Amino acid sequence: RPTVGVLALQGDVREHLAALEASGADGVTVRRRSELEAVDGLVIPGGESTTMSRLLTVFELLEPLRERLRNGLPAYGSCAGMILLASEILDTRPDAHCLSGLDITVRRNAFGRQVDSFEENLDFVGIEGEPMRAVFIRAPWVERVGDGVEVLATVPEGPAAGRVVAVRQGSVLATSFHPEVTGDRRVHQLFVDMVRKGARARG
Ligand code: GLN
Repeated sequence: RPTVGVLALQGDVREHLAALEASGADGVTVRRRSELEAVDGLVIPGGESTTMSRLLTVFELLEPLRERLRNGLPAYGSCAGMILLASEILDTRPDAHCLSGLDITVRRNAFGRQVDSFEENLDFVGIEGEPMRAVFIRAPWVERVGDGVEVLATVPEGPAAGRVVAVRQGSVLATSFHPEVTGDRRVHQLFVDMVRKGARARG
């Protein structure tokens, strides 16, 4: 089984560990550099991206994590994790860092204050079977995708129809929504598969 870390500075760490275990990986928490160096892949959970950004600096993980991403560490970010993996963040604090694991621009809290959270059924490229039940909680959307970034899911209908909510670039995957809370393991299975393949074909 591959060892997959969950960045455990803040956010819904436990749910991701459970989803990883159910998807054939050994899930471990990552708070120190030595723990980061030991994992085959890393999940960045949902939570608060500006807080996590600050804690990455406090725990001296920002540069080591950027470095591991540059060297091809497979990573999956949900919600705040997607924001952190982006190369540009709109509507954030001026001192918030990003990891630039994905060549995308995200907008924080993009769906508006009046729609704090909502659920949608989505088609997800490469995932077979039933549409995916996607839970959005003060979610970002992707406003720009660079060359080599694959769009995996968009909002099907309503005022945000067509907005990009799942992307992949080589070995880095991100979703605006939280598959770790629904019991649907297909996104984590996809990621664990990516970790196994150690895929590194960044465009
Ligand atoms: N709005 C949060 C942020 O900016 C993300 C919310 C979430 O991860 N559920 O980080």
